[in-house]
Amino acid sequence: MTRAVDIVVIGSGVAGLSAALGLAATRDVLVISAGDGSTPWAQGGVAAAYGGDDPLDHAHDTDVAGAGFCDPRNVRALVEEGPQRLAELIAHGARFDRNADGSLSRTLEGGHGRPRVVHAGGDATGAEVHRALRSAVQLAGVETLHGRTVGLVKSDAGRVVGVLVETGGEVTQIDARAVVLATGGIGNAYLASTNPSSVRGDGIALALRAGASLVDMEFVQFHPTALFTGDTSGQLPLVTEAVRGEGAVLRDAEGRRIMAGRHPRADLAPRDVVARAIDATMRRDGSSHVWLDATGIAAEVLRERFPTVLASCARIGVDLVSEQIPVAPAEHFLCGGVRTDRDGATDVPGLYAVGEVAATGVHGANRLASNSLLEGLVFGRRVATTLTLDLPVAIAGRSRELLLDEDREPERIRAILTKYAGIRRDGAGLNAAVDELDALGNGPLATVARSVVVAAAARRDSRGCHWRSDYPGVDERWNEHLVVRLDEDGRPAVRQLLPSGTC
Ligand SMILES: Cc1cc2nc3c(=O)[nH]c(=O)nc-3n(C[C@H](O)[C@H](O)[C@H](O)COP(=O)(O)OP(=O)(O)OC[C@H]3O[C@@H](n4cnc5c(N)ncnc54)[C@H](O)[C@@H]3O)c2cc1C
Repeated sequence: MTRAVDIVVIGSGVAGLSAALGLAATRDVLVISAGDGSTPWAQGGVAAAYGGDDPLDHAHDTDVAGAGFCDPRNVRALVEEGPQRLAELIAHGARFDRNADGSLSRTLEGGHGRPRVVHAGGDATGAEVHRALRSAVQLAGVETLHGRTVGLVKSDAGRVVGVLVETGGEVTQIDARAVVLATGGIGNAYLASTNPSSVRGDGIALALRAGASLVDMEFVQFHPTALFTGDTSGQLPLVTEAVRGEGAVLRDAEGRRIMAGRHPRADLAPRDVVARAIDATMRRDGSSHVWLDATGIAAEVLRERFPTVLASCARIGVDLVSEQIPVAPAEHFLCGGVRTDRDGATDVPGLYAVGEVAATGVHGANRLASNSLLEGLVFGRRVATTLTLDLPVAIAGRSRELLLDEDREPERIRAILTKYAGIRRDGAGLNAAVDELDALGNGPLATVARSVVVAAAARRDSRGCHWRSDYPGVDERWNEHLVVRLDEDGRPAVRQLLPSGTC
C-alpha cells in the first residue's frame, strides 16, 4: 500500500513537533514516531537570553563550552531566535516556573555565565515542552503514525521521495516531496545511556544510506551525573546539572571535593571537563561511581525544584535531601550528526534533518547545557519556513527502496562502542573497534557505532568531549571537522576534512 503527503517528519520530539507545527498551516504533513524520544525526559530546562540577558553572552558561553569549535553564524541564529521561539511556546500554553512577581524563574547550569535556564515543573521541563507542542500539533490537525521508519525511497534523479514504515509487522511506502529526519540521538548504540530505547541512531543510518554526509561524529557527550543504580545497561536516570547549579558538589569516596581547583567554575565547569574528572577519580579509586552532595541545599528548595530527581533517588533507596547520592557519567547526547545547512537541508535533495540527529555546528565539540531543546525549537521552525516557502515539486519516475539491514548481535555492537568510544579513548582501542565492528554487518546500530569509531580514530587530538589518552592536547592541525560517508562496501568512513566553523 502506498500513500502520499507533502512532507514526512520522522520523530515526535521537540525538533519534529516544532517542524510539523510550523508546516501545519500550509502543508499536508505526517509525523511518524517510534515512541517518545529524549524530549519528555529533559530535566534542567531551556537556555534562552531573556529579560536583560544578552544573546551574545549566550553565544559566547556556547562557544566556550563547544571548545571554540562551533559554527558562529548558526550559534547566532540559535541564541537570537531562541527567545522568540520560547515566547511562542508559552503562547501555545507551555507553563514554565515563575517567580512571585510573575517573571520566568531562571537557573544556572554548567558552562553558563549567568542564570538563563528556564524550567517547568521544577525538573520536568521536557515533559511540559512536549505536552505543549503535542497539543498544539494535534490542534493544528497534524496526523501522527506510530511505527518505525526502516528505509527511505530515492528517485533515479537522486532525490529522497518517500519513506518505508514498519507498523504491525508490515512495511508501507509513503511518498513525500520532502522528508525531515528528527530522530534524536544515538543513546541506545551504547550499553548505558540517559536516552530512552527508541533513540538508537536510526536517522544517522537512514541518512548515510541515502548518500548524505555526517560531521563531528566523534563528539559524543557523556553526562557527568547519571544516578548510579547498580545497573550498567539500559536507560539510567539523570540527575540534572541544575542540582549543581543550586550548589551541590561532587565528592570522592573520602569526601574530598572532586572539582575544587580543577576549573575556575569548579562543579559548574562544562560537562566534558566534569565527566573526565569523575572518570579519572573512578579509575584512580577503582570505584563504579562518585558522590553528589546536595545536603547543603535547603530541603524545600530540593523538593520544589527537583521532584523527578527525588523520585528516581527514592526508587533506589537514597535521599537527595539528607545524604550524598551515587552518580557516574553516562552517554547522553550526540553533538555531531547529519550535516545540514542552517535551514536543515542535508546534501541529498529532498532530505532534511533537525534536532539532535542534525549537525549544524551549534554544539561544537561539546554541547552547552540546555541548548538542545532550544536547538529543536529554533531549527525545527527554520526547516518549516524553508519548506513552506520552497517545497520541491513532486517528480514522477522510477525510484529505489533503501531499506536498512537488520542488526546482527546488537548487544555486542553496544559493548564494543561502550568499551572503545567512551569518555577516554586511544588509537589502539579504536582500531580494534573498527575491526570488531567489520564482522557485524551494516545494520543501523553497526553503522552508527562505526561512524563514531572511525571519526574518533581519525581525530588525533583531544577537544571537547572527544578525549584521546594518546593525543591528550588540542592540536591546531586538527582544527577541522571530519566528514563521514559510506564507502564502496556500504561502511562509514572518513572522507573529507572541513575547516573549523564551516560545519
Ligand atoms: C534524561 C535527559 C535529560 C535531558 N535534559 C535536557 C535539558 O534539560 N535541556 C536540554 O536542552 N536538553 C536536555 N536533554 C537533551 C534533549 O532532551 C534532547 O537532545 C532533545 O530532546 C532531542 O530532541 P529531538 O526532537 O531531536 O529528538 P527526541 O526527543 O529524542 O525524539 C526522537 C524521535 O524520533 C523517533 N524515532 C527515532 N528513530 C525512529 C524511526 N526509525 N522511525 C520513527 N521514529 C523514530 C523517536 O521515537 C522520537 O519520537 C536531555 C536528554 C535526556 C535523555
